[in-house]
Amino acid sequence: MTCIECGGKLRSKKENYRYLACGLPNVTLTGVEVRRCATCGDHEVVIPHIERLHEALAKAVVRHEARLSGSEVRFLRKYLGYSGVDFADLIGVSPETVSRWENKKETMGPSAERLLRMLMVHKLPIQEYPIEALTQISAKARTKPIGLRPKGNGWIEQGLAAA
Ligand SMILES: [Zn+2]
Repeated sequence: MTCIECGGKLRSKKENYRYLACGLPNVTLTGVEVRRCATCGDHEVVIPHIERLHEALAKAVVRHEARLSGSEVRFLRKYLGYSGVDFADLIGVSPETVSRWENKKETMGPSAERLLRMLMVHKLPIQEYPIEALTQISAKARTKPIGLRPKGNGWIEQGLAAA
């Protein structure tokens, strides 16, 4: 394999990879193949079943009982396939409000957050997220990082030590 940037030789290795491209700051993919170029330092990561990965990630976010962060709101909105404007229309706020939530200038109110979680419940298999869990959202923000590793045709959550 050669580097698409410089034509140098790529070295392939299994690594734990910070998946910043998903827009969440705290996601690590464990044991995925990363190909690094020794010449120019460029790298590429091989992510199998990316739709399944995003589904597993959405579940990990929505199942957690902490309040949603701005980047989690953005990730879930995009996962549901809404533009900022459509999402604002759907839940009855202005697009500016959605933008303030996502940019951490304002915390999403509890009713709006519950609505977003409800939308996710309808998108994901319902047994993954019982409605009662909606009443158990704590006021705290997430402190634990999210780890996922490829398994079979999908991805499973993997416990990680706190950062
Ligand atoms: Zn290179």
